[in-house]
Amino acid sequence: MSEAASRPSNFIRQIIDEDLKAGRHSMIHTRFPPEPNGYLHIGHAKSICLNFGIAEDYQGQCNLRFDDTNPEKENIDYVKSIQQDVQWLGFQWSGEVCYSSNYFDQLYQFAIDLIEQGKAYVDFLTPEEIRQYRGTLTEPGKNSPHRDSSIEANLAAFEKMRAGEFEEGKACLRAKIDMSSPFMVLRDPVLYRVRFAHHHQSGDKWCIYPMYDFTHCISDALEGITHSICTLEFQDNRRLYDWVLDNLSMDWNPRPHQYEFSRLNLEYTVTSKRKLNSLVTEGYVSGWDDPRMPTVAGLRRRGYTPLSIREFCKRIGVSKQENMVEMAMLEACIRDDLNEHAPRAMAVLDPVKIVIENYPADKVEVLKAPIHPQNEAMGEREITFSREVWIEREDFREEANKKYKRLVLGKEVRLRNAYVIKAERIEKDANDQITTIFCSYDPETLGALPEGRKVKGVIHWVSAQTAVPAEFRLYDRLFQVPNPGAAEDFHAAINPDSLSVQHGYAEQGLVQAAVGQAYQFERQGYFCLDPDSAADRLIFNRTVGLRDTWAKISD
Ligand code: ATP
Ligand code: MG
Repeated sequence: MSEAASRPSNFIRQIIDEDLKAGRHSMIHTRFPPEPNGYLHIGHAKSICLNFGIAEDYQGQCNLRFDDTNPEKENIDYVKSIQQDVQWLGFQWSGEVCYSSNYFDQLYQFAIDLIEQGKAYVDFLTPEEIRQYRGTLTEPGKNSPHRDSSIEANLAAFEKMRAGEFEEGKACLRAKIDMSSPFMVLRDPVLYRVRFAHHHQSGDKWCIYPMYDFTHCISDALEGITHSICTLEFQDNRRLYDWVLDNLSMDWNPRPHQYEFSRLNLEYTVTSKRKLNSLVTEGYVSGWDDPRMPTVAGLRRRGYTPLSIREFCKRIGVSKQENMVEMAMLEACIRDDLNEHAPRAMAVLDPVKIVIENYPADKVEVLKAPIHPQNEAMGEREITFSREVWIEREDFREEANKKYKRLVLGKEVRLRNAYVIKAERIEKDANDQITTIFCSYDPETLGALPEGRKVKGVIHWVSAQTAVPAEFRLYDRLFQVPNPGAAEDFHAAINPDSLSVQHGYAEQGLVQAAVGQAYQFERQGYFCLDPDSAADRLIFNRTVGLRDTWAKISD
């Protein structure tokens, strides 16, 4: 498939194609405009892939701009994590990182411009009164008594706001539009408010901050953005953005136009920074990068690759249709990637000991196993075999029918990449728990079929002499209901068993694993080494199981 043919098509790209054909633009300029008030989540990844993807495919530009108008909710940690996540996803913004706060001087001048044209006024109603005066969807609002103050009085009052002469909530600047507009956003929206807050970029220079809506559209225009792409909840705000850009004494070229697409909603999780923030601050998860979080940082720690997330964004597409995407869709993308690329290894998550009585106690044999059975080029790894090995507790039964193709007392099974063993007898502790399974092995079965009999089952194992102790963190869905965001209290829908920890062993080569390195642990799923690991304490996160179990779980 040619590169052009593999490009996604969607209604936004069609608009761009038409704009280019009609000569409305010669260069395409998009941006990704996060507020630095949390870590990026999988929904943002959709927006990033769309905005940066368009810039790449049309040889245009895409800015990374922080819409940082809310200093109390923002911090530099968020600013840094967002840059890291965008780059990790495989994108690079044009030029320097942009900040709306870099335009605070210009925004202030634009506010004065509106006041001078009689299109903005300083209001002294309290925030509560402003709410009451605004009316409702069925009732028009009321004009503020300060709406018709003179231009001079407004200029003077706005200057006083800037000089810090009003307390927070005692004065604000509002656009003079229409208190009976059917669009609530046009009922004299607040443009500036007083906030005695330190800003992570502009420091203590300002005690008035422009509102998001006023800032966002002007920032796009100042940056020469041609297509301002955002999610559907900003559809009504577009009317305000158009009003602001059309009423300032400026000839914008290019004049940005906004196009809305539907948000990504993912089943069994929430994609709202506010809700994710509350999971972090209230201790439901270990942090923004907890592997159960749908954040880019959480997915990375869980073992998701940039490729898998970009592929997911491609598969879900871009439309105006509100929808809920199944988790299985995201998991299929990482499974496809890791199935192809992850080296294979063996690990036993819930170990029980095997003692092979006819194998010499002091012997350690080095065996070879493929790193990837479908890709010889990845080479081989060394594994050691010895008299004592660990297998999964669930891979042994004292009795079983023919369907159970694992180790059964008195029967044989193959140890993957090694010999056929036979379970001879078992030892139990006082609680009736099996402590040891005593076996014999057939020395003629290394890489060869056993003589005169069939052994169907193959199980994984590690050598007790050389295996390294490891912790395995297994994750389940974070919420118990498909749409926790719709619940009255989404905290109540949290799955109390979303993390289970097991202590077992991994084959010895894994002491060299790097943080983030992915493996397929045979029969157990895809795992990656967690940053909490230490040299003597390996911790693996299960990224995803080998097969889709979601459908089964929901039965
Ligand atoms: P949240 O509700 O999570 O706080 P937000 O819209 O306030 O999200 P921003 O930082 O303002 O977060 O978002 C930056 C960009 O990402 C915006 O253009 C927004 O439309 C887009 N975006 C946010 N959430 C999603 C989502 N779930 N799906 C697609 N795009 C999204
Ligand atoms: Mg927002």
